[in-house]
Amino acid sequence: MTIEEGVELAGLTTLGTGGRARAFARPETEADVETALRWAAERGLEVATIGLGSNLLAADDGVEALVLKLAGSLAAVVVDGDVVRAGGGAANAVALHRARAAGLGGFEFACAIPGTIGGGVWMNGGAYGGEFSRVLRRVRVVSAAGGGWFTPAELGLSYRHSDLRHGQVVVEAELRLEPREPAEIKATVRELNAQRKAAQPTNRRTFGSVFKNPEHELSAGRMLEACGLKGHRIGGAQISPKHANFIENAGGARTADALALMAEARRRAFEQYGVELRHEVELLGGIELAPLR
Ligand SMILES: Cc1cc2nc3c(=O)[nH]c(=O)nc-3n(C[C@H](O)[C@H](O)[C@H](O)COP(=O)(O)OP(=O)(O)OC[C@H]3O[C@@H](n4cnc5c(N)ncnc54)[C@H](O)[C@@H]3O)c2cc1C
Repeated sequence: MTIEEGVELAGLTTLGTGGRARAFARPETEADVETALRWAAERGLEVATIGLGSNLLAADDGVEALVLKLAGSLAAVVVDGDVVRAGGGAANAVALHRARAAGLGGFEFACAIPGTIGGGVWMNGGAYGGEFSRVLRRVRVVSAAGGGWFTPAELGLSYRHSDLRHGQVVVEAELRLEPREPAEIKATVRELNAQRKAAQPTNRRTFGSVFKNPEHELSAGRMLEACGLKGHRIGGAQISPKHANFIENAGGARTADALALMAEARRRAFEQYGVELRHEVELLGGIELAPLR
């Protein structure tokens, strides 16, 4: 495993923004992860693991951390009976494909989530009534304190949340699925993809939902739409004209543009509805949203 310097994170996020990581590595085994964690500890650097960068805004002026992107055996998927063992770096699409081929259903919801297993655990990703916490049997996490298996409850999985912190690397997850005909799985996936395409800007560079849905009769998207924000643009980032809870890279966007749009959206939602929207996207590199008050 090589530890590189100055790798651009813009190429590793779906929005296509972000500066350089102070250090970057692609560990392929758990031993590599341990080596990387030690390397960072010796230098007093934080460790952040990224998946497909589909829920990530990285600072434009760079991230002062060792950034890991899991590869090799840590991105592999193996089916064992009704259990799918997926590396933390495995794309959801690959795990879903393997599950379907083995006649195992229950992970279809993840066709809508363009991330990895590790990112899905971190966020407790979910869509169309399904979410990671419901299919996870246990998760292997490696940190400076060593490696261990954890249940979803032990990781504190709740709506788009886990208690995981940077420096804790999800290296593997076991999904317990149910027997289902591959043709039925395929049909469900086709149907969910069609719904998604009709409602969301699937052909644009985005990072998925910007804000979590508030406890309010309006979803975050409907609320921002009612605030007149569809199509609102700052720099190279714009609120999607198709779905107001998405920010698109409309050309040359920077993370700062997306953050400014988010701050404006929060301000308007608060003024108009008294709601403090909380962001769903993860912020990397010491960046923060401007305070509401
Ligand atoms: C078009 C689009 C649609 C989307 N739709 C949905 C949806 O319907 N439902 C939904 O829940 N999400 C959705 N998302 C958001 C995103 O895909 C999910 O949050 C996904 O789970 C993020 O996975 P990732 O691998 O890309 O993680 P990243 O974005 O790379 O990282 C997200 C967080 O997870 C951490 N992380 C990632 N991998 C690991 C690991 N192995 N170990 C420890 N920490 C890790 C990162 O440090 C970061 O804090 C969508 C995104 C897009 C672009």
